[in-house]
Amino acid sequence: MTWLWILVPVLILLAAVGGGKQENAKQKKTATPHWIYHPHVIETDEYECSVCHARFPKESPLCPKCGTKMLGKTVTDENEWIDEEEELDIIFDDD
Ligand SMILES: [Zn+2]
Repeated sequence: MTWLWILVPVLILLAAVGGGKQENAKQKKTATPHWIYHPHVIETDEYECSVCHARFPKESPLCPKCGTKMLGKTVTDENEWIDEEEELDIIFDDD
């Protein structure tokens, strides 16, 4: 059963790398600094800075971390919300 301990972390790593690449591709399209609104199912909703990717509970004209002026419109990223909902489904459907 030791092969599982090698295979599982490798799969997680591959998934993380793949997800990161997708995020970079999205970023290039939107160059103007803006907030990325992340609605969450369980946790409090978050606003992510498109420049430094720090997350805060609410939007502000400037990013509290990197000080970038938010010139673009707030974009809603529902991907995480959908992911969490799917996770919940998996938890509740588990028997
Ligand atoms: Zn920032």
